[in-house]
Amino acid sequence: MKSLTSYADRSVALVESANPVLESAEVLVAPILTGICGTDLEIIHGKIDPAYVLYPIVLGHEWCGRIIDLGDESTELAVGDRVVCEGIIPCGSCFECTSGNSNRCTTYDEIGFTRPGAAAELIKVPSRLLHKIEDNVSDESAALVEPTAVVTQGILKSAPKTASKVLVIGDGTIAMIAARLIRNWSPSFVTMLGLKAGQVELANKAGVDEFLTVTPSLKYDLIIEASGSSTRISEAVGLLVRGGKLLLLGFTGSDVTTGISIDDVVNGDLSILASFGYTREAWKATVALLNSGALDLTFLVTHRFALSNYADAIAALESAPAPRGKIALENRL
Ligand SMILES: [Zn+2]
Ligand SMILES: [Zn+2]
Repeated sequence: MKSLTSYADRSVALVESANPVLESAEVLVAPILTGICGTDLEIIHGKIDPAYVLYPIVLGHEWCGRIIDLGDESTELAVGDRVVCEGIIPCGSCFECTSGNSNRCTTYDEIGFTRPGAAAELIKVPSRLLHKIEDNVSDESAALVEPTAVVTQGILKSAPKTASKVLVIGDGTIAMIAARLIRNWSPSFVTMLGLKAGQVELANKAGVDEFLTVTPSLKYDLIIEASGSSTRISEAVGLLVRGGKLLLLGFTGSDVTTGISIDDVVNGDLSILASFGYTREAWKATVALLNSGALDLTFLVTHRFALSNYADAIAALESAPAPRGKIALENRL
């Protein structure tokens, strides 16, 4: 089979490799659509923390596919089912896993980072991590479950109150997902503070009430930070009402620190939260929203390329003009 492989020497190529061989409790899946993101670029360019990637690595951690072989598994799933698979592979036995915090599993193992990803003709995955996608859900929405589960995990942690005024900082995929997803918690108002005016079209599709590229004058109950901008993070503290919450989802780069006014945080009785990855519960909640029809993210996939055309996909990820949402690889050659 062909797989899109990233090497430690910063090259990336579509290479021929052996088909995966199923081990016990594993299922063979043919990926349908695989999103690529800034993290894939960090892997390709060797910028990711070396503790989180094993080269050479088949890319692809945001994807959906169809089961083609159930191996030795007897599950309620069937050959032909469309599925998504949790990317972080929890050990299931450490104190984090057994207390429901599998996103903090003490053994790090993740599809597309430490084991082969889905930018390939085939992938094998542990059957216990699969979730069935109903026919009413688009391939685009299904391929976005992984980043959406990251946002779901954070929003659940921030426990938004009904009628909250919400500010989403950033205008990339995570920000768009956050703006759309927070609607399911019935906010009174959602503002997006973006960087590129051209993203307004996508922001409107995500359902924001207001798209700005300059700091707003309102104050908010909840700010979801998805830009990774240290300047914006510093500003955010001053944009919260007393008792407000700042949820950090963006990465600034491991060498970047940011200044915040501690007096504002204490006087404001503020909560600063951050969220890493996702748990099984976040996947279940995300898949349930999609399967029920309460969430549709089809609008967010703005660019599609055949897997064989991966170079154009990577170039689009690096420099396609706005409006730009998710860039996805179709797993056909
Ligand atoms: Zn990603
Ligand atoms: Zn564990």
